[in-house]
Amino acid sequence: MSQMDSVIVVGAGHNGLVCAAYLARAGRKVTVLEAAGQVGGMAATREFAPGFKASCAHLLYLLDQDIRKELALDAHGLSLAANGMKTIALDAGGEHLTIGPDRVTGPGVSEADQAGYREYRRFMAKFAAVIGKLHNQLPPRITQERGDLLALGQLALKIRLLGRDDMREFLRIAGINIYDVLQENFDNPLLKGALSLDAVLGTNSGPRSNNSVFTALHRLSGNNGGGKAGVLALPAGGLGTVTEALAAAARKAGAEIRTGCPVERILLDGGRVAGVRLAGGEELRAATVVSNADPRTTILDLLGARHVEAGFAKRISNFRSRGNAAKLHLALDALPDFRGLSAAQLGERLVIAPTLEYVERAFNHSKYGEYSTMPVAEIVIPTVRDPSLAPSGKHVLSAVVQFAPRTLKSGWNEGKGAFTGVIFDLLAAYAPDIREKTLATELLTPEDLEREFRVTGGHWHHGELALDQFLMMRPAPKSAQYRMPVDGLWLCGAGTHPGGGVMGCAGRNAARAVLGA
Ligand SMILES: Cc1cc2nc3c(=O)[nH]c(=O)nc-3n(C[C@H](O)[C@H](O)[C@H](O)COP(=O)(O)OP(=O)(O)OC[C@H]3O[C@@H](n4cnc5c(N)ncnc54)[C@H](O)[C@@H]3O)c2cc1C
Repeated sequence: MSQMDSVIVVGAGHNGLVCAAYLARAGRKVTVLEAAGQVGGMAATREFAPGFKASCAHLLYLLDQDIRKELALDAHGLSLAANGMKTIALDAGGEHLTIGPDRVTGPGVSEADQAGYREYRRFMAKFAAVIGKLHNQLPPRITQERGDLLALGQLALKIRLLGRDDMREFLRIAGINIYDVLQENFDNPLLKGALSLDAVLGTNSGPRSNNSVFTALHRLSGNNGGGKAGVLALPAGGLGTVTEALAAAARKAGAEIRTGCPVERILLDGGRVAGVRLAGGEELRAATVVSNADPRTTILDLLGARHVEAGFAKRISNFRSRGNAAKLHLALDALPDFRGLSAAQLGERLVIAPTLEYVERAFNHSKYGEYSTMPVAEIVIPTVRDPSLAPSGKHVLSAVVQFAPRTLKSGWNEGKGAFTGVIFDLLAAYAPDIREKTLATELLTPEDLEREFRVTGGHWHHGELALDQFLMMRPAPKSAQYRMPVDGLWLCGAGTHPGGGVMGCAGRNAARAVLGA
């Protein structure tokens, strides 16, 4: 096989692995080089305290079911410990709401809220499906070429086919904020707070920020095999089971995966890609390099800005990628006693987002380089459903906590201990015994996430998911079809269309683009 057929994939996050698997199945000689000691990136299951394991990404709701089938992930070890989990919106007094795909139950939910919820789910799922249909295609470019014009026409048609009223509503709400949409549809403050959390998780925005409807739609936009939008699942063994299964599929197709191999430089020869150099000095040759690293890391660090036009380098350095989510892992001696919840209910998704105003205020701090003193949280206790993640009888609590800016005014060295205290105070308001049940704590701030997973800003999506950084603008115009402006260099990670979350579409689209080149 010639060097022209060889492909190096930089990074074994789930998108890098999907890309590698499809390229290898098409006959390319693929080598995946991963800096960390294990595959999976932010979706790896890691031991954070002796015997206690968790994955940074902890819930599965976007994984493309065609990829799951095509790569036979179930045969490679993927199984679900839970599927169709409900969301429980926590109330400090124990008056919680349970939110399922079709209905909400709990104190203070009026008939109007119930009807509002059905209608909200209906139109959000319908609009999310329009976005979801774009996930498996190359974003159309703004050109006069027939293929691009056709793709743009199809997009317009999909929106038109929503029907007159829904089309108007889609166009009205897509660019506005979730705060207004929830105010229009609901009375119950706890319900509004909990639903707004879905719009701001992993983003640098509050409920009143523009685009927050779009991010809520993105969360519901996965192809989960014809089920209801945004169904929440928990893979047995954490999300690392998904990425281990992807690695097994890639290896079976012939790809070689090397861990502990940080790529230091993308090498050029005569202006086109010639291979990579590892941190240890080893050089590997290939005419095609596909990077699962984020756009800024790839272009500015691994390639070098001087190898692209100044305008393009500027656009990439302006790609907004300041993470604002921290990740907490607790090793627990026993299940904590959440006021008003049964042990079985602890196996659902628990959220702390009491009102819209609370969530907005939590966000406000981060605008000024401060962490929230009253944060919001998405909590999962995976060991209720999957005891394999902890020693017998013990438990793991895994929580996304916002807002925690990438760059803290006082510095995370100083701020981390204090923020950990804030989070424990928050949890103790709902589970008073949380401190005494805790054996070990790991808090990953965005700074830690950046270092641990080599993701600029520690950003959930490798870069903000917003209308101006979506489709043909992701990561930058003229590079949105995975091809970078240097011959032989491609991107395949969350910083490309259709963004982050454990979905796999960016990896598969990138493989198709490489194969079609
Ligand atoms: C706190 C938090 C919670 C989240 N929770 C969820 C969730 O519950 N559900 C969900 O679906 N999504 C969640 N996400 C988002 C999800 O984890 C990411 O969007 C997704 O993992 C991105 O996958 P990826 O393959 O594109 O990149 P990554 O997972 O970032 O993988 C990139 C890989 O490239 C490697 N790499 C980078 N540079 C180099 C180099 N120079 N040499 C070699 N290797 C390199 C990295 O080590 C890494 O392994 C969460 C994110 C965060 C931050």
